Amino acid sequence: MKYTTYDINESLTIEEYLARLPDTGQREATRKLLWYSTAILAEMNHNMQKSEELPEIRIVTNPTLNAEAISYLIRINSGLIEHCLYSKHMGYETIFECIPPKIYNSEQIAIASLSWIIAHEWTHIFRHHDKVIEELGDTPETLRALEHDADYCAIASIYRRLQIAYFQHMNDQHIREVLLYCLFWPLRTLPSLSNTHEEIGQRLCNFLIKIATLSENPHQAPDNDVIEPQTLESFLSLASLLMKCEESFQEIDDTEANKSNLIENFVRRIQDGSFTDTTTGWEKISQVVERVSSTTNS
Ligand SMILES: [Zn+2]
Repeated sequence: MKYTTYDINESLTIEEYLARLPDTGQREATRKLLWYSTAILAEMNHNMQKSEELPEIRIVTNPTLNAEAISYLIRINSGLIEHCLYSKHMGYETIFECIPPKIYNSEQIAIASLSWIIAHEWTHIFRHHDKVIEELGDTPETLRALEHDADYCAIASIYRRLQIAYFQHMNDQHIREVLLYCLFWPLRTLPSLSNTHEEIGQRLCNFLIKIATLSENPHQAPDNDVIEPQTLESFLSLASLLMKCEESFQEIDDTEANKSNLIENFVRRIQDGSFTDTTTGWEKISQVVERVSSTTNS
């Protein structure tokens, strides 16, 4: 990871932040990353057929891996941007055992994950989570379900982006797998941002469920009850990809804090059925979210 020189907790526009980066290579890589990642805001408006005013983006010079949405403002810590940019990952060839199509390059790991983070924060705003809290109260269950709502909408939006970019180069299941692969590396080492976010094992289980159940057709509801056989097939392939990524992660990351038993944890959740707990909690609030925000659950 590279380190930047600045005073801590300055709140900067993207251009001001870029101007502070002393290293030209890092500045240009960051410029590209922020350009593609912030484009997700308008893409989500388009997907939701909304014409919400886009929020202001501020970069906070702070090494902590954090982002937050306050009213119509999204604040992203510089530490989180650097984290997305420099996360270690195992190569595409090793994980998928094939040469990537020309359209893919490893920059897409950083772009997909920062886009996902921005999409998560934007969901808190345009799905009017503040109004849901007013109506249902700020119980831990509601707060957790809203975090889950933000995770889910963010996943859906990155999947729709990859569909458009990749559909001529790979089949639908492979697009879903590339999505999981890209998000895995930076998110695997992201500490739980607050006590309302679930630990990474459960969060990655939730990602698998969402990626597998999303309908290929953007106008069709997701297969939440796993009625279609290909949903289960997709889930099982994604689960084995997740395990492969985790095994590779343990090879390239020797930090003690990351030596967790994610695979054991994951298998236990599948076996005892607790991997569906989050979805069940989310279903309790989803209709209120749809009503107060005039959006549908994609
Ligand atoms: Zn959140």
